[in-house]
Amino acid sequence: MAASSDNLTPLMRQYRRMKSEIDPDVILMFRLGDFYEMFFEDAQQAAPILGVVLTRRNGYPMCGVPYHAIDTYLAKMVRANRKVAICDQMEDPALAKGIVRREVTRVVTPGTVTEDTVLAADQSAYIVALSEARGTFGAAWLDLSTGAFLAEEHTSPETLAESLRRVRPRECLLSDEADIALEGAAQAAEIGCITRTDAWRYDVEAAHEVLARHFAVASLECFGLENKAAVVSAAGALLEYVRDRLRRPVDHVRTLRLSQPDGFLLLDEATCAHLDLLPVRGRPKDTTLAGVLDATKTPMGSRRLQQWIAQPLCDLAAIRARHDAVEAFTRERAALNDSRALLSGVRDLERLVGKVSLGRATPRDLLAIAASLDAVPALRAALGESEVRSPKSQVGVAMTTHPGPRTSAPGLRTSDSGLGTSDFGPGTSDSPLLSLAESLRPLPEIARRIRTTLVDEPPAVLVDGGVIREGFNAELDELRAMAADGRAWIARYQAEQIERTGIKNLKIKHNSVFGYTIEVSTAQLANVPPDYQRKQTIANGERFVTPELKRYEEQIATARDRSILLEDQYFQELRAAVAAEIPAIQATASAIANLDVFAALADRALALGYTRPEMTDEVILEVRDSRHPVVEQLPDAERFVPNDSLLDGGQNRLVVITGPNMAGKSTYIRQAAMLVVMAQAGSFVPASAARIGLCDRVFTRVGASDDLARGRSTFMVEMQETANILHNATPRSLVVLDEIGRGTSTFDGISIAWAVAEHIHNEVGCRTLFATHYHELTDLAKILPGVKNYCVLVREQRGGIAFLRRIVPGAADKSYGIAVAQLAGLPASVVARSREILANLEESEHGRDGDSTLARPRNHRSTLTKDNRQMLLF
Ligand code: ADP
Repeated sequence: MAASSDNLTPLMRQYRRMKSEIDPDVILMFRLGDFYEMFFEDAQQAAPILGVVLTRRNGYPMCGVPYHAIDTYLAKMVRANRKVAICDQMEDPALAKGIVRREVTRVVTPGTVTEDTVLAADQSAYIVALSEARGTFGAAWLDLSTGAFLAEEHTSPETLAESLRRVRPRECLLSDEADIALEGAAQAAEIGCITRTDAWRYDVEAAHEVLARHFAVASLECFGLENKAAVVSAAGALLEYVRDRLRRPVDHVRTLRLSQPDGFLLLDEATCAHLDLLPVRGRPKDTTLAGVLDATKTPMGSRRLQQWIAQPLCDLAAIRARHDAVEAFTRERAALNDSRALLSGVRDLERLVGKVSLGRATPRDLLAIAASLDAVPALRAALGESEVRSPKSQVGVAMTTHPGPRTSAPGLRTSDSGLGTSDFGPGTSDSPLLSLAESLRPLPEIARRIRTTLVDEPPAVLVDGGVIREGFNAELDELRAMAADGRAWIARYQAEQIERTGIKNLKIKHNSVFGYTIEVSTAQLANVPPDYQRKQTIANGERFVTPELKRYEEQIATARDRSILLEDQYFQELRAAVAAEIPAIQATASAIANLDVFAALADRALALGYTRPEMTDEVILEVRDSRHPVVEQLPDAERFVPNDSLLDGGQNRLVVITGPNMAGKSTYIRQAAMLVVMAQAGSFVPASAARIGLCDRVFTRVGASDDLARGRSTFMVEMQETANILHNATPRSLVVLDEIGRGTSTFDGISIAWAVAEHIHNEVGCRTLFATHYHELTDLAKILPGVKNYCVLVREQRGGIAFLRRIVPGAADKSYGIAVAQLAGLPASVVARSREILANLEESEHGRDGDSTLARPRNHRSTLTKDNRQMLLF
């Protein structure tokens, strides 16, 4: 800092003390009158971010922002990944003896913002803490705006980094002594703000103690956390850090959920991005799966839906339970419509409860909680009513078949009544809605208390009173009457004085310096009676007071001050009463979020002609007339042509799809992956029928995307993603590969693509869709028993080719590259010469026996399986 402490004013000494109490990278916003001021380096750093002028005072740099606009400026700081400590005045400056007492009341960081102005309702801001203990990696996630607290255990830094990339926390907390692996994971995930904190917070025993005390439990077994040292360390450190260092209340954090990676379908970051699952900033929402499915009515529902899509389930019973709920809604249109209408009136309870806990809930926030809770009994009735109406004959409503050509898909169940109803037998069909109804606990007491305490339309802020309802408290009513009566008295007094003095334009006015005064214009000064005491001269007259006026004014002021104090007290009591119900309100909020998602999914299923998928634990993926959920919705897309798919663990393990560029290969293979994600997330799927065997992971390697920002070339990215698939895919995975080997020369490319396909077929054996424009790869089917060829139909016509978008069994007989080149206008001689060279290449592709020469192993240590080798011998 510029100045030494000796020549600092007392105010600056106070500032320096505050500054020393917070972390050095935190900017201190110091309340001085109507401004929050920043000094020294803080001012230099903050001024350009805030867009305010940097000035100098007593030779040191400073800048400031008006206190009432603080949220706007906080938003700017947080967006620039900076942390801010708010230092407030803890007493009224007018009453303070000496220097005003100040305290840091909260520290706002990118991962802990809760202010509405900064955090959009459909976003979550997570701060994550990472830890390593006994060879495992723990991550704890906190969304302070709702109190959601989650933990994960990982066995490698790679899966940890993957999870970080998927959830995209805004801030990461690490111990001062954190291992390089953890820092590496945070950096790999490109987290904008990394905070280091004292290592003692991460001590497993200390962290255990913090959690046990916070949740008031003796053991952490109830959270499944015993023996999970890394998770305990991360979670305990995070909670303590937020409470202690950031001074943010954490009372609304009522549970810690351990995400069991076992129970979920794993999606890596590349897959999430390739499949356009979740909204991305700067792109229209409806170009993503979440955008297409998001018909939710509340921000809670919207966030929950995104969570389900980012982390689909991998548990048959749980998935079927979600489908049951969606199906029940598709059958019970009245329940669906009524619930959705009621949900429109429900506010963001999760965030509102967060504000209560953080002590920032306004009277309007509490009324919003009450109004939202008031909807609960009606919602329960809407859900329960369906029991009476239940028209069993409507089974299959959601299975509207999509018009389109059919090709054979052997083994698929086709009867409407059979498909999708296997675990949803007659007689129990209403139970999902009833159990949803049961999960919605009405909290009439607290809602009633809020409504009977507060006026219907309170002002936005508390300071001027007018918040507590008349009749709530007799003393308050009396004080208010006195204040109101005072005003009437003033009016009467003015009339009396006009009468008494004969000064027609005499006025009693209020100003902040002298309170009530009697104003008399210069022309009338001669008529002023002697008991008037002169207070002030103004431009066109004088101001006077009388002892009577002063006495009355005091009474009014006291009554007013006292009534505001009382209002504040009753409001605080109400807020505390609501705070005591936070766990119950959170449970209801969570149930509402689920309900909202189920209703939205049912709404989409009906509107878009989706079908309930039949879920099984066989290794199968069999869909009929399936469509790409996003592409079919694009506004200027051609009419979408549905197609069938069949993959299994045997003869149809690896499907090679060939066809020219732009034929629709990528769309076709992506849509298979999206159907799996949708189904396991709990949604119905865009197909006329679907049988989906549980997948443990979905991998995609799609398109050639340069990742220059991370300094990796297209081909490098492609190979890294492919390597990840080969290392991590299991027989239960679904792998979608598009144009593998495209980023290098043709021979390299075909060779790599071939070897990758062989490896997946022989070593992994999982369901795989392999799209390529190298028609050479169709020879794979000749030597590998689990490979099937499909191609996209094109029609050759004069002047080029027409795309039919239909996928049929068989291999594309050529790449059509030359046809496309001709279309593009290459000179005829070049086109003719290309055909010659192609013919030469194709000749060398096959041996004299007609077998593919590419397929031949060059030594005996090939990866071919026994039966393949036999095929080669014949
Ligand atoms: P490829 O991978 O073969 O180069 P794409 O999958 O990228 O082709 O598809 C090319 C274009 O065709 C895309 O614009 C897509 O919207 C459209 N398309 C793909 N499949 C279909 C379909 N089944 N029905 C209608 N349009 C489709």
